[in-house]
Amino acid sequence: MMSSAKSSPRKGDKKKEIIKSDSKEINLCTKGLSGFKMGKLLGKGGYAKCYEALDLNTKKVYAIKIVNRSKITQEENKKKLETEIKLHKYVSSSAIKSDDKVSNIAKLYQYFEDAKNVYILLELCENLSLDVLLKRRLRLREVEVRCYLAQIINGLKQLKRHNIIHRDLKLGNLFLTKKMEIKIGDFGLAVQLKNPTAKRKSVCGTPNYIAPEVLDEGHGHSFEVDIWACGVIIYTLLVGRPPFETRDLHETYRKIQRATYSFPKHVNISDNAKDLISRCLQIDPLKRIKLEKMLSHNFFKEGYPELCPVTTLTIPPSIS
Ligand code: ADP
Repeated sequence: MMSSAKSSPRKGDKKKEIIKSDSKEINLCTKGLSGFKMGKLLGKGGYAKCYEALDLNTKKVYAIKIVNRSKITQEENKKKLETEIKLHKYVSSSAIKSDDKVSNIAKLYQYFEDAKNVYILLELCENLSLDVLLKRRLRLREVEVRCYLAQIINGLKQLKRHNIIHRDLKLGNLFLTKKMEIKIGDFGLAVQLKNPTAKRKSVCGTPNYIAPEVLDEGHGHSFEVDIWACGVIIYTLLVGRPPFETRDLHETYRKIQRATYSFPKHVNISDNAKDLISRCLQIDPLKRIKLEKMLSHNFFKEGYPELCPVTTLTIPPSIS
């Protein structure tokens, strides 16, 4: 289905091939999976399963996303997977080459396929996603949200440099490494614009996080949809549930189109946090806070650690 320049298997060829990436060498056996020892299941998504995988040669552990070919029979899904791999791999390799101290994009190292599946080799994020973290912790402290949001902003800046909009930024697509670094993953809905002022028209995203201009089909959307999603993310992490959530999808969409949300009285949220959320959740994308301005918002003035301690996976930090 897809072509990978370095993964064309030849019958009976047991030779390992070396692919240079991230200045370390990854051994991809030309027989695909046989170069790896599969570990535990990390999670299941809409059309993929993700496992830990040990590279038997380098002893490095990866996350391997396995997409069953039977799930991608439709032309549309094939194209989606191709775009996901192409854009994600492009961003990963440019992050490796660039001067970024830390990349907040989950690296995509390689992909290969056999008769049954397509395999995507990813940077392992041992501490899973912010979604899982929030389920465990129910709500996060503002200092943690500052720490995570600063990294999300850094990741979005990396994407913007390549004119890429993620379009599906949500807690389940924000992963945490062993060191608690944020890594943006799942490029299934990402798109690269021809130029920074171009717009996209297709309706896509995850209901709770979708921006109003995406719902307005005639309108066209751009980078600002990821800023809207940041507003939803900040709110959700602080309150414990998304701002526009209802039982009825149409009602959720109505609330999004009017930016109707409120803060529950029992949760203490600072004015700075509320202000940043409202600047992200502006109906008019042009009135939304710019990515480049976010870190100078007063919400960040109180400071935050570079990374959250691992203990915060289960216990709130002592400072708020
Ligand atoms: P889908 O595209 O089908 O939604 P996902 O990309 O969300 O699939 O992956 C499915 C699940 O696998 C995720 O919910 C997450 O739990 C896990 N996962 C995905 N990527 C990684 C990774 N790099 N490290 C650890 N777990 C991951």
